[in-house]
Amino acid sequence: MKVYQHYINGAWVEPATREYFDTENPYSGEVWAKIARGSAEDADRAVKAAKAAFENVEWADMRPTNRGKLLVRLAEIIERESGRLGELEVRDNGKLIAEMSAQTKYLAEWYRYYGGLADKVEGAVLPSDRPGIFNFTRYEPLGVIGMITAWNSPLLLLAWKLAPALAAGNTAVIKPSEFTSVSTLELMDLVKEAGFPDGVVNCITGYGLEVGAPMVEHLDLAKVAFTGSDFAGQKIYETAAKKIMPVTLELGGKSPNIVFEDADFEAAVMGAISGIFAATGQTCIAGSRLLVQRSIHNKFVKRLVEVASEAKIGDPMLTDTHVGPVTTQPQYEKILHYINVAKEDGAKCVLGGKPFTGDGVKGNRFVEPTIFTEVSNDMRIAQEEVFGPILSVIPFDKENDAIRIGNDIVFGLAAGVWTSDIGRALRMSEKLKAGTVWVNTYRAVSFMAPFGGFKRSGQGRESGQESIKEFMQVKSVWIAHKTSAANPFIMQ
Ligand code: NAD
Repeated sequence: MKVYQHYINGAWVEPATREYFDTENPYSGEVWAKIARGSAEDADRAVKAAKAAFENVEWADMRPTNRGKLLVRLAEIIERESGRLGELEVRDNGKLIAEMSAQTKYLAEWYRYYGGLADKVEGAVLPSDRPGIFNFTRYEPLGVIGMITAWNSPLLLLAWKLAPALAAGNTAVIKPSEFTSVSTLELMDLVKEAGFPDGVVNCITGYGLEVGAPMVEHLDLAKVAFTGSDFAGQKIYETAAKKIMPVTLELGGKSPNIVFEDADFEAAVMGAISGIFAATGQTCIAGSRLLVQRSIHNKFVKRLVEVASEAKIGDPMLTDTHVGPVTTQPQYEKILHYINVAKEDGAKCVLGGKPFTGDGVKGNRFVEPTIFTEVSNDMRIAQEEVFGPILSVIPFDKENDAIRIGNDIVFGLAAGVWTSDIGRALRMSEKLKAGTVWVNTYRAVSFMAPFGGFKRSGQGRESGQESIKEFMQVKSVWIAHKTSAANPFIMQ
C-alpha cells in the first residue's frame, strides 16, 4: 500500500506528527493508501517554503513567458497521464470513470490557457492630468496562495486555482480534501517533471481543522482560494477578515433547473436527469430544485421517473454505469437524513428514497436516485444543500413565478432554463441571480468561462481571462519628468 507524505520544497517529507490516516475506495470500502496527517507545524513549513520560493530570483525574476512555458509543459504531461489520474480519482471519490477520465484530460486545458495568458496581463499608461508626471500601472503577483479543495473533483477544482495563480507569478500551498488527497499528491511529481522550481508548488494533507485552518491563519499567506461548503467557507472568511486577506470562495448551491411548457420535452428531461443524478448529485452545480411549469408537470415527472429508474447503479470503473457510490460516509448519512427530512415535511417520494443494495454493488454506500414531488420552495429539502441524488420538483405557473421561486434561496451558483422562446431565454438569464445560467443545456464548464457564485455561493470568480487578476494586485507608479523641490506641504 502506498504511503503519501507531504510535498514541501520539492521533496517528500514526513509529517511532524509522524501520523498517517487511511484513504478508502468508496465503492469497495477497501483502504488503498495512507495519507500524512498534517498539523500547524507542517502548514508553517510549507508556507515558509512557498514564501522563500516566491522571493527567490529563480521564480521571482522568471519572465512571464517562461512561466507560461512551464504551465504548457505541465499541461502536456497531465494529458499524457490523464488516464492514470482519472483512475486514481475514481478509486478515491467513486465518481464514474467516464466522467473522471474526461475531466482529467480536459483539465490540461486550464494549464495551457493560463500558460498562454501568463505574458498577456498588461498594465496601462494613464493619460495623467498632472503636468510633468508620468503614470503607469503594473499587475503583480500576491505571494503565497493557499488552495483548499473539496472531494468531488479534486484535480479540476485545483486547476481552476493553480493554473491562474502560477501564471500570475505566485507560489502555492495546496491542501486537498482529507477524503481524496491521492490525485493531488500524484500531481506533485508531474509539477516537478515540468520543471517548476522547488517550493513553488507544495502540498500538505490532513484534516481541515488540523492543517487547513492553521494554514489559513498563517501570516505569510497572501490569499486563500477555497472550494467547499459554505460552512467552512464562512470560517475561512472570518479568519481572512482578521488579517485583511483576500479570498476566493467557491461554495455550495441549490440551483433551480427551470422547465417551461415550450421546451424540447425530451431534451429537458435529460437535462433534469443530468442536473441531479450525474456524479451521484455530488456536484456544487446540481440542479436540485426542478421547477416545472404546471401545464406539463405530471407528464414531465412521469417521464423523469421512467428514465431515472433505468439508471444503472454500480461499479464506477465500468463505463456503462450511470450512478456510483456516495463518496464519503458522512455524506451518505447526510443524504439519508435529508430523505427523512423531506418525508417528514410532507414531500411525496415518487422514486427511490432509500439505500440501494441491489445486484452489482459492493460496499455499503449507494443511494437510489430519488425524486420528491409536492415540494414547496420553503421546505428544508428545497432550501438546504444535500449534495446527493435527491431531486425536489416544484411546480410553477408563470414566468415571473419561476423567477421568484428560482431566486428565493440563499445560494446563487447556477441555474438552468429550458425553453424554445429566445426572448424568454434572455429575460430569464438576466433575472436569475446566479453566477452561471445555462439555457437548453446543463453542467457545461470551460476554462474560458468565468465560474462562481452570487450570494452565499461564493466570492470571486474562477476560469476565464479575468480570473488571473484574482491572483494579482495592481500598482500605480508615478514618475516625475524632472525633479523639483516642490512645496512639500501641498498635495502634488
Ligand atoms: P468541506 O467544506 O467540508 O471541505 C472542503 C475543504 O476544506 C477540505 O479540504 C477540508 O479539509 C477543508 N476545511 C474544512 N474546514 C476547514 C477550515 N475551518 N479551515 C480550512 N480548511 C477547512 O466541503 P466538502 O464536503 O469537501 O465539499 C462539498 C462542498 O463543496 C459542497 O458544499 C459543494 O457545493 C462545495 N463545492 C463547491 C464547488 C464550487 O465550485 N462552487 C465545487 C465543488 C464543491
